[in-house]
Amino acid sequence: MALTPQSYSFHQEDPVRLGNLTLNVISDGTFKMDAGALFGVVPKTIWERKVKTDRRNRVQMGLNCLLIRSNNYNILVDTGVGKKEPDKIKDIYGLSTGKLLRGLKDLGLGPRDINIVLLSHLHFDHVGGCTRFNGKGQVVCTFPKAKYMVQRADWEEATNPNERNTAAYHRDDFEPLLNSKQLELLDGDTEVERGVKAILTGGHSAGHQIVVTGTSEDRFHIRLSPCTIDNP
Ligand SMILES: [Zn+2]
Repeated sequence: MALTPQSYSFHQEDPVRLGNLTLNVISDGTFKMDAGALFGVVPKTIWERKVKTDRRNRVQMGLNCLLIRSNNYNILVDTGVGKKEPDKIKDIYGLSTGKLLRGLKDLGLGPRDINIVLLSHLHFDHVGGCTRFNGKGQVVCTFPKAKYMVQRADWEEATNPNERNTAAYHRDDFEPLLNSKQLELLDGDTEVERGVKAILTGGHSAGHQIVVTGTSEDRFHIRLSPCTIDNP
């Protein structure tokens, strides 16, 4: 599901069922993006009637994650921003985040129940919830039994960012996955589970991927980048 800025955040109470798969949208909360950064060269006259900005010219965005349950696995697609960000980042992005675990709990699942975390890409608004602070203030993986899957091209971009994209990557979100040996790098299109495919698209980031679920007759294309106006 490609989310428009207008869709903000939502919690889909009713799951979608596709054969043996059950899909739930779970919100991690909301954040705000600078409208200039979001729309780029698109003139304001085109979008201002549909999208409201706050006094700091920011647009509120939803942080929507997806839970896919099969007979074998609980697969989480993206993890939102999480709770680790310092006050300065909370202020810049107007963060109201860290609600993912509560959403999973509402569905009867704890962090140890997640088997696979499939990451569309490594920008902080999609992977912040991959890790958390433990009681000693150390950053550890939120889902201790999960394999975290991301495209190799995205990992290489995130770990070697350039001047333009460096602010989008927060190393604490993804380096602990490597240290705990829970990281699995994908090389192109991959069937993660029967009826759940990761498809490399690039565009938004070097190794951006979408998820296609279901069969050829009954199929969902899922894209969790936060708006439809970027360059997939
Ligand atoms: Zn992104």
